[in-house]
Order: sequence, then structure tokens, then C-alpha cells
Amino acid sequence: MVYERTASKWVRVSASEPCSICGQKRYCTRTADGTAAKCMKVESGTSVKTGGWVHKLDDPLPERVAPPPRKIDYELWRNRCAEAYRHKLAGKVRAEEAERLGLSPGILDRLYVGAGVDAKHGVYSTWPQRDGKARFVGYCRRFSDGTKMSEKGGKQGLFYLLHWYLSAGPLFVVEGGSDVAALAGIGAVTIGRFSNVGGADMIATAWNGLTKKPQIVVVGEMDEKPHKRGTLKSCKLDCPGCSNCWPGKYGAIHTAVQLSSALGVDVRWAMCPDGCKDAREWASKNRGASVIDWIEDMKGGVNVKVSQARQLLMSGTMESEVRALGGP
Ligand SMILES: [Zn+2]
Ligand SMILES: [Zn+2]
Repeated sequence: MVYERTASKWVRVSASEPCSICGQKRYCTRTADGTAAKCMKVESGTSVKTGGWVHKLDDPLPERVAPPPRKIDYELWRNRCAEAYRHKLAGKVRAEEAERLGLSPGILDRLYVGAGVDAKHGVYSTWPQRDGKARFVGYCRRFSDGTKMSEKGGKQGLFYLLHWYLSAGPLFVVEGGSDVAALAGIGAVTIGRFSNVGGADMIATAWNGLTKKPQIVVVGEMDEKPHKRGTLKSCKLDCPGCSNCWPGKYGAIHTAVQLSSALGVDVRWAMCPDGCKDAREWASKNRGASVIDWIEDMKGGVNVKVSQARQLLMSGTMESEVRALGGP
């Protein structure tokens, strides 16, 4: 896709110039020359591998200077994550976060969770993020009220344990650091992506680096927003789940399709079982459960092979994707 190759020429939307397609002040981008918008919310015929859809603009926006592509200083981020891990409040913060999230403090320690203090928002925990080659690229800050922010200057990356691949069983690709903590805590092989649609390229790199390659199951969050149905042209009242009305489901399918194309293997997807929003909720509801219990619970929901539906998926809209994959 032409637009992907010129990705460095994308400019982010802002409060002063919201997305011309959906009106959001964040997430979406547009080209520096103003001829196209990449909206993360509203579908078009041209979907972008890394998420979102390209909309050609008949009425071009004013030209803007594209920011230079960001280089990540891995050494710097490794040091910053280490500093946060050794912060004088880190032990206390790990214990409090573990308690609040229903997780074991030990697993937060193994995820290298640290602490920091923000003059405006107070104490936060830091959740290191790494790329597919295990290099530190940034961290996510989590405040006690549940708010999450990524640390400035870094890049979004994956959440996983140092030796994440050592356990047996399938690789569960979840969303966020606390889901990883929950599943890794019961011994599952798990990687957390940084958003519903993000990080597939990094996961592919990590998986390719393994000698013994596990089956991949992408887990979607039960975050359906029925009230959003009918608010967009592409999301009608009978929408089976798109990025607008069901980001968790949409993201799971999207990620499974991306991984399947990138790796040439069958990748499964499933929604979080047992009526739970995410893996963390499942783990705190099922205290003392093992990875076997998790797999048993997941089994019924694991959907058909993505490869079988790939042909349909590549050409179709999200709606046909969901149907092709056997979704409701
Ligand atoms: Zn938009
Ligand atoms: Zn929808």
C-alpha cells in the first residue's frame, strides 16, 4: 500500500486540527500534503496494515511539516526502565498495584514494573514496553485511578516477561500489561499488545525468533459499546462489531489476520471467556486457577482458522470479516 511506505509523512491530528473524517482530536493522522486522512475510526475501502483507513480528501487540508521519524535510544529506555524499577517507592507501588489489580506482586516484579512521581498526577507505576527483539522502547504509566499514559519520547511496545516463551502451550496475545501479568502469573505463554490493533509486527518478529513455534491465539476484550451503534455511517444498528462499537473484538480479529498474513500460519482468535472483560478479570474471578483451567475455558470460544477466511478478509469490509470468521 502506497500510503504505508510514506508513513513518515503522516501528521497527527490535534485539538486545533481534529480528524476531518471522524472529528477525534487524537489517534488519527493525515498526510503532510493534506491530500489524505488516515482515520482510526471510520472505515473506507483502503485499510492500513497498522490500523485505520485511508480516506482521500477531495478538498485538501493545508500543508504541514511532517515531524522527523523518531529514533529510539534503546540504551536510554533500558536505563529509564531500570531506574523506575529501582525507585524508592517501587516495592510499595508494586504491592499496591498487585492488590488493586488482583495480581501477585511477584509477577509485577518479573515484568519489571517500577515507580515514578508526577508533579501533577502523583505516584504512578511504570510498565516497560519492548519491541520484538526484547529491546526496551518505552513504558506505560499507570495511575492509581486506572488512568494510563505512555511516557513521552518513547515508543509503544509489547508487554512480556524476559523468558516469556519458556512455558508450554499456545501463545496468548492479550491487550495491555496487566493482562500479561494475570496470564503469565498462572504460567501461560503470553504477550500483551499496546492497543486493540497495535503491535502485530513486533509480535511477528518475536515469534519468528523462536525455535519451537507455539500456536497463536489472539484474545479480544469484552468491551462492546452498543450505544455507539448507528453513530457512524460504517457502523449501522446491526453492526456485528467494528472499531467503533466493539474495539476489543475488532482488534482481536484484525491482529489475528495481520499475524496470519505476516507469518503464513493459522492464527486463532477468541473473546475473553466466562463473561469477563479481560484476562485480568478472569484471573481475579478464578483465584487459584491454573493455565489448564484458562485453556479449558477458552476452548469453546476459539474461532475458525484465519487462513481459511483470508481471501475474503483482504478484500472485504469489517462486517464481512466478522461473518467470515464465524462471529455473531
Ligand atoms: Zn478519524
Ligand atoms: Zn460497529
